[in-house]
Amino acid sequence: MSSDRYPFREIEAKWQQIWKDRKQFRAVEDPGRPKFYCLEMFPYPSGRIHMGHVRVYAIGDLLARYKWMRGFNVLHPMGWDAFGLPAENAAIEHGVHPAIWTYENIDYMRSQLRKLGISYDWDREIATCDPSYYKWEQLVFIKMLERGLAYRRRSTVNWCPSCQTVLANEQVEAGRCWRCDSEVTPRDIEGWFFKITAYADELLAWCDRLTGWPERVITMQRNWIGRSEGAEFDLAVAGRADASARSDASFTSSSIDARRLSSCAAVAIPSATR
Ligand SMILES: [Zn+2]
Repeated sequence: MSSDRYPFREIEAKWQQIWKDRKQFRAVEDPGRPKFYCLEMFPYPSGRIHMGHVRVYAIGDLLARYKWMRGFNVLHPMGWDAFGLPAENAAIEHGVHPAIWTYENIDYMRSQLRKLGISYDWDREIATCDPSYYKWEQLVFIKMLERGLAYRRRSTVNWCPSCQTVLANEQVEAGRCWRCDSEVTPRDIEGWFFKITAYADELLAWCDRLTGWPERVITMQRNWIGRSEGAEFDLAVAGRADASARSDASFTSSSIDARRLSSCAAVAIPSATR
């Protein structure tokens, strides 16, 4: 029985070392080959890679290797969605500085991904908590501020008293915080907003140009943009069966007005459940 087993310790360790030495998956410019960019959503460095990660990253790995074999010049990077509140909460809980906690988790999780033999170009690894990365986010933000696309406004938000933070609607489950299960309360605070209504028409136009998406997804997208140009209706006039009053309520609204600022990333493959 044991002789039938796949001796993964020997085989995988051997080939992973060879890939590492050769920089097998390093992307270099090559105008002679078609390009393929394979990007999975970066994991949050919570401490350990779990099976949800393995599922998503195995799919990305398959796709990248398939494209390599088909002659594409594949760029397949990896990084860490490492900035923010969970690190602060964990730091408070464990009594350790958030930077130490975060980078230790990254080191451990990187070693786990390496053991899986996934075809990443590790030379391009980034962590979003690193100043060499977030200086670019700050630059983009300043440009948006200069052009009036980022602004401050007071609004009512979902507040988790335990996490001491604002939650998106999607992070509130049956009135409770998705992370700590505390009861969420409404709270009026000043916040930063992106004026993405400036792009509503463009976004709608692109809905008609997207191919390969199920119609229900496109409809969801259109509804999310939520453009409305008003309503026209007739009202009967009391005592005058022959007449009606016409109302023309012209307005433009959009449900995407001023989405609260949150982190975003380009994704090709959905994230693993954290
Ligand atoms: Zn919470």
